[in-house]
Amino acid sequence: MKDLLTELIALQNVEIEMFKAEDGLREIPKGIEEIESIIHARKSSLDAIDEEIALFEERKVPLEAELKENQTILDAADARIKRIKTNKEYLALQREMDLAKKRKADIEEQLLTIMEKIDKKITEKERIQKSFESDKVILDEKKQVLLAQIKELEAVLDSYKGQDKDLRKSVDASLLSKYDRIKQNKKGLAVVECVDGVCMGCHMHVPPQLFNELVRGDKLIICPTCQRIIYVFPDPGKE
Ligand SMILES: [Zn+2]
Repeated sequence: MKDLLTELIALQNVEIEMFKAEDGLREIPKGIEEIESIIHARKSSLDAIDEEIALFEERKVPLEAELKENQTILDAADARIKRIKTNKEYLALQREMDLAKKRKADIEEQLLTIMEKIDKKITEKERIQKSFESDKVILDEKKQVLLAQIKELEAVLDSYKGQDKDLRKSVDASLLSKYDRIKQNKKGLAVVECVDGVCMGCHMHVPPQLFNELVRGDKLIICPTCQRIIYVFPDPGKE
């Protein structure tokens, strides 16, 4: 019986390795996606700060233009004031200049507030950028490791490719269908060793009578607890 099982055990080994590789190939890309989404989120937050800075810069434009206009008014008034003849004219111009000066101070204050906000945003951006740069080194390394793992698993899968089909052809057909049925039910191991009377699939003892039959090796034995095909390696001490 053990001879019949040899190829089935080999098939199971190949299929388990292939399953592990396929499982890894399903899971690892998720890790890569996660890394990429972290990088993307960091980049977006940097872009968002850039946008905020750009909006502040935009708000500066009309204020700076008005400040310039205001300065022109003040310069013109300065030139005019020397040529003024009457007190009434003088007072009127003085009032105009006071208003312009007040507006100037007001605009300067607004510009200062905006520039402070821009400075804050720049500092924030630098802080995020700095941590992002060091984190990105780690994230890129992790990604490289995962990419290398994918390559490795693909190579493993490649090396087993065809072996499973060849082995399937050499295993007895009814044994193979039994194996497939158990494998599906157990989601994995279908053929397991029995060591010292204990099934390695469920770790339960096999009844002594059944174990004797197993050692005799003339028929297919199923573990009564977990329903897996069990086998024993011949005991070298008894030969
Ligand atoms: Zn069992």
